[in-house]
Amino acid sequence: MEQEIIRKWNALTILLLAASTLSVSAYALQVTETEDIKANDTAISIVTRNEWSARDPKMVERFTGTIPFVIIHHSYIPKACYDEDGCSKAMRKMQDMHQLKNGWNDIGYSFAVGGDGRIYHGRGYNVIGAHSPRYNDKSIGICLIGDWTIEKPPQAMLSATKRFIELSVENGFLSPNYKLLGHRQVRNTECPGQRLYEEISSWSHFSNKPAGPDDPEIPY
Ligand SMILES: [Zn+2]
Repeated sequence: MEQEIIRKWNALTILLLAASTLSVSAYALQVTETEDIKANDTAISIVTRNEWSARDPKMVERFTGTIPFVIIHHSYIPKACYDEDGCSKAMRKMQDMHQLKNGWNDIGYSFAVGGDGRIYHGRGYNVIGAHSPRYNDKSIGICLIGDWTIEKPPQAMLSATKRFIELSVENGFLSPNYKLLGHRQVRNTECPGQRLYEEISSWSHFSNKPAGPDDPEIPY
């Protein structure tokens, strides 16, 4: 009888230990996903994956080193959002499209920016993305949520994007000599929308090389 109780107790201990190990590793994954931004800047507000109710990535594949490129996208769909609720919903919709429909590990972008001027955490820094062939392991892919073909993105969105890029340099993730590109320069797409493309063409660090997706050279 006593032997039986001890056996049960042992089984319970093992179960509890396993459960606590599991919760520790889940916590570690979350910390990696959200705490890689050391931004302590009142001018910027970062919405964590927890806050927009992201699903966990299926897999996280990393690359090392200071990142040499920023690639700008628009979402086209979903349409623009202007508050945290709407933009969180847009993030979940993109994650559904990328992870469930396309079968990717996670939402494709490293980060996204809402019309509310907040930064939404996607895959994060130094995680191989799924947004720009040949550049996924050497760039930060930033999606400005909305369709910016004709309409200019709201000022809050543009300012937040610029500030976030600066912060990425200040925090050591992005190379001080980084090159800024639009998605259409590396893939046959109209992304990031004509109007947004014109806008980023005037930003510092914008590079007009490569001129298009057929340009085989990746400039460093
Ligand atoms: Zn794109």
